[in-house]
Amino acid sequence: MASNKDFPVIFELSKEGRVGYSLPELDVPEMDLTEGLDGEYIRTELADLPEVSELQIMRHYTALSKRNHGVDSGFYPLGSCTMKYNPKINEDVARFTGFSHIHPLQEGKTVQGALYLMHDLQTSLQEITGMHQVTIQPAAGAHGEWTGLMMIRAYHEHNGDINRTKVIVPDSAHGTNPASATVAGFEAITVKSDERGLVDLEDLKRVVGDDTAALMLTNPNTLGLFEEHIIEMAQIVHNAGGKLYYDGANLNAILGYARPGDMGFDVVHLNLHKTFTGPHGGGGPGSGPVGVTEELAAFLPKPILTKKEDMYVFDYNRPLSIGRVKPYYGNFGINVRAYTYIRTMGPKGLKQVSENAVLNANYMMRRLEKEFDLPFTQHCKHEFVLSGKRQKKLGVRTLDIAKRLLDFGYHPPTIYFPLNVEEAMMIEPTETESKETLDEFIDVMIQIAKEAEENPEIVQEAPHTTVISRLDETLAARKPVLRYQR
Ligand SMILES: *Cc1c(COP(=O)(O)O)cnc(C)c1O
Repeated sequence: MASNKDFPVIFELSKEGRVGYSLPELDVPEMDLTEGLDGEYIRTELADLPEVSELQIMRHYTALSKRNHGVDSGFYPLGSCTMKYNPKINEDVARFTGFSHIHPLQEGKTVQGALYLMHDLQTSLQEITGMHQVTIQPAAGAHGEWTGLMMIRAYHEHNGDINRTKVIVPDSAHGTNPASATVAGFEAITVKSDERGLVDLEDLKRVVGDDTAALMLTNPNTLGLFEEHIIEMAQIVHNAGGKLYYDGANLNAILGYARPGDMGFDVVHLNLHKTFTGPHGGGGPGSGPVGVTEELAAFLPKPILTKKEDMYVFDYNRPLSIGRVKPYYGNFGINVRAYTYIRTMGPKGLKQVSENAVLNANYMMRRLEKEFDLPFTQHCKHEFVLSGKRQKKLGVRTLDIAKRLLDFGYHPPTIYFPLNVEEAMMIEPTETESKETLDEFIDVMIQIAKEAEENPEIVQEAPHTTVISRLDETLAARKPVLRYQR
């Protein structure tokens, strides 16, 4: 990283002998800390660390934090990721000492409040999804997918149905779906989408069979479109003896309006770090609860939290369980945040979330459909997908448009996904943005479309205002420079 005036590299500020701390005089005998350590791990020279003052290091990290784009700093319409506002009351509650100072090995009777919260969160998610029982153990969406598929596998095996080796996934599916199916030991096979962006029923009938373990589906799908034939699809799969898996990472479109359980799904995962306002984007911690029908409940990860008389207790006596999928009881802190969100919103509030998420997405889609190609023209749900086909003919790729958005202080939408749309831009405004913010973003998108026609270089060479200009993405991925080198 090159240094620049307003952002000097911390190593270059180093002055020999400058210290950023003050410690009291040593008043205990000095110890040899290398005692008992294997020789090759013992440092022979001091680490090459910058010698700076506390103020300098403070400014360094504050400057770094300002370089970071987050929901709290600007609009973040990253489709399929639901970058909605994370209410700060969630943070306050997660920091209550009764939640933050407890230990997972503490005796159950001393943490009944925390267990109550976990139990009530499970019950709320059961209600929201229409499922019989929910586990909050899995740590992320993909982890929930794997957990759910392992349960489906255990179910089939328990029934002696050992030839169900295939999981059907639409061509518009999130990449984690075929990946989870593979990791769970299945073969992922594709079902095509039709010209309206929905699963092609004829193709589904063709691929389904007595080797089908499950169909994995997102509804609304990653094009932001509701699979209208879901009931019929469920029948097709169930009649063949397969199970229906619902990827509920993005429940933002249907809260309070539709429930996967009512659509015929057998297993559902949710991303509490998306729909339920857990902060995310930095790699976690997340939470990917999984709900199942009564038929599959015996296979849930153990332990199961249950209520016995007046006490919440963990039940380990679950002979058919797939076992633990995470140490202890899930990412408790993120579950506290999601629970706080659900309780502050209430059923009416959650319903309103979906109304506004869908309204915002449709508003943007209709205002942008003249300047960009809209491959699927029906109303969308919480997100929509544009194609940069027209701009590509002018020499401006979707990647260029994404880079140009950085000049205006926006995080770009998801690009080149879903795979079945050429030069895709997947935009999810979320319900927490105001009409003014949506309008500003729309105006910028329209301006970029004009630039593509009149002055394509400005888009092709973007970004112009960021600290680091256009990266060689291939080189950055293949030969990353991860640390400062003198
Ligand atoms: C985000 C997402 C996932 C994966 O969730 P992680 O928590 O990132 O593992 C799966 N499916 C869909 C549709 C998603 O949007």
